[in-house]
Order: sequence, then structure tokens, then C-alpha cells
Amino acid sequence: MDTDFEVVIAGGGIAGLTAALTSARLGRKTLVLTGDVLGGLLLSIEKIDGFPGFPEGVPGYDLCPMIQEQATAAGAEFAVAALDGITRRDDRWQLKTAAGEVRARAVILATGSTLKELGIPGEARLRGKGISHCASCDAPLVRNRTVAVIGGGDSALQEALTLAGFAERVIILHRGKALSAQAAYRDRVVEHRKIEIRFDIVVEEVLGADKVTGVRIRDATGGADLEVAALFVYIGLAPTTAFLSGQLTLDPFGKIPVDGRMRTELPGVLAAGIVRSEAAGRAAASAGDGTTAAVAADRYLANGDWPFGKTGG
Ligand code: NDP
Repeated sequence: MDTDFEVVIAGGGIAGLTAALTSARLGRKTLVLTGDVLGGLLLSIEKIDGFPGFPEGVPGYDLCPMIQEQATAAGAEFAVAALDGITRRDDRWQLKTAAGEVRARAVILATGSTLKELGIPGEARLRGKGISHCASCDAPLVRNRTVAVIGGGDSALQEALTLAGFAERVIILHRGKALSAQAAYRDRVVEHRKIEIRFDIVVEEVLGADKVTGVRIRDATGGADLEVAALFVYIGLAPTTAFLSGQLTLDPFGKIPVDGRMRTELPGVLAAGIVRSEAAGRAAASAGDGTTAAVAADRYLANGDWPFGKTGG
């Protein structure tokens, strides 16, 4: 593999793939470090809703390869390796990866996020044995069973709707008093005959010897055990930024601050998608971030302009 690139993009999700497409179309020698799996978190999503041009939604496992194909046709290269660290040397960034070192004049960090875990007893032991983060992968396994979903945001409700296509009953357990998900999901969930929502519920333990048989829950009236065949956990996202420790100032949520052009405080380093501060959390926004970052990287390579926070010029 070549080791010298003008632009290296870390992350093979929608932000990274779209940045690669744009960067390659701008004529920049571009490499994408995809991490372990191309497609990022959205790869396993049965239906990405609200993406322009797809009124019926589009599966993540269709959309991500489509963008990759477009980026490849434009000239972008791909390596299945994660970015482990960045160091400035002269006017280049030296990038450490499991597949060896590569050098880049500009780096776009589009490393996305991972799904948070509950950190309660039983969770580690029963992971993959009835505890899942992927409704579209595992829904067929719970046909005609009762399952629980934890969370009250867009992911929890979207995945509860997917599960309701297979399961007999889906119980959403939410620790708050109101759902924070967008109305498009809320309305469908509230009306769905197979879905029940329980508020003010804390899940204290996952039950089962070698597979999930239930959860121990607590509400204002006390504790109880709830029998479920599987547990789907959607309690938010943790940005993938640990590999940057000490290199870049992160915001209090561990995300990367950027200006309006996706530029970070480090010259030639940009961030795009859910890993950056104040990301909108929509696939379309990640694609937009990727495009913006690639255009800004191109301008930087052309004229060296880099004041953090300056959006004009
Ligand atoms: P969110 O952070 O939006 O929601 C997390 C939910 O989990 C909240 O209800 C939160 O409750 C709850 N929660 C957090 N921690 C715990 C815990 N320890 N125990 C129990 N419950 C907990 O995450 P999502 O994954 O839902 O969404 C992530 C991003 O992706 C958002 O920007 C979202 O809009 C976006 N998204 C967009 C979609 C679309 O547009 N089609 C589809 C899916 C996701 P509390 O409110 O009390 O903190």
C-alpha cells in the first residue's frame, strides 16, 4: 500500500465515505482507514429514515456500499485498519495504524461512535446471549416472543418499531418521564398495538444463567422482575475519540470541537459526523459534514489557511 496521501480519512461511515467521495472528486490523493468494518454504526440499520432522495428509507447496508462504490470510482483508496494515533512531523501528519504508518497533509476524523452500555450486573455475561444492540440483525430470533428495549431516544423507538414486526410484544423501558425521540417515531410507537412504553423505570440487572430470561426493574413503587426473551439497549452513543488522548482538546462529551468548516484546533485536522461537537445526529448531516470537511481540506492544501474558528476567507 502507498503510504503518502494528501488526505487521509479515519472512519468508513457515512461522514467518512462522503468525505472520501468529495476529496477524490477534487483530485486529492485520498485514503480511507475504514476501521474494522466499512459502513460504521449505520451499516446494521434496517432503514435509514429521512435521508434525502429515499422517501421509503434506505437500509444502511445498501447506502454505505453505494457511497463507497462512488468514492472508489472517483479514485479514493481504502484500507481496513483503524487509526491508532496522530503525530505532527514537519508539514505532515504521521498516522499510526495496525496496517503500518501512513502520512497525510490533511486528516479528516470521521470515527463515529459506539453504542453505550448499561454497566449493570448480568450485562457482560449475557452479551450476545439475548442482549443485543442490533434489532434488524436479531429481530427474527425473537419472533412471537416478548422483548424489552431500553432508552427513550430515536434509536430506541426506531428499533422498537423494527422489533414489533417480529416479536409478540415490545416493552420500552425508559428512565425518564417523556420520550426525547422525534415525533415521526413517537407517534408510530404510541399507536402501535404491540408496543408498550413504561416510564420512570430503572433497569438494575439482566437475569438469566446462560441466556436472557428477564430484567430486574425498579420504579417509584418498588422492584420487580420482568420476563423477556431479549433485551435491546439503545441508551446513546459514545464518540470514538480515545485514540486522540492528549492530542486534541475534546468537549465535555468527548467529542471534537470544530468550526463551521469542520476544522479542529490542529492545522490540517478536521472532524466530521457524529464524532464532532454539536453534530445533528442525522445521516444526511453526516454526509454534509463529510463534504464540508473535504472541501475545507482541499482549500487548506491549496493555500495553507488555518485559523481555528475563522469561517470566512
Ligand atoms: P440519545 O442520546 O438521543 O438517547 C438516549 C436515550 O437513552 C435517552 O432516552 C436517555 O434518557 C436514555 N439513557 C441514557 N443513559 C441511560 C442509562 N444509563 N440507562 C437508561 N437509559 C439511559 O441516543 P440515540 O441512540 O437514541 O440517538 C443518537 C443520535 O442518533 C441522536 O442524535 C438521534 O437523533 C440520532 N438518530 C437519528 C435517527 C433518525 O433520524 N432516523 C434514528 C436513530 C438515531 P434521558 O433522556 O433520561 O437521558
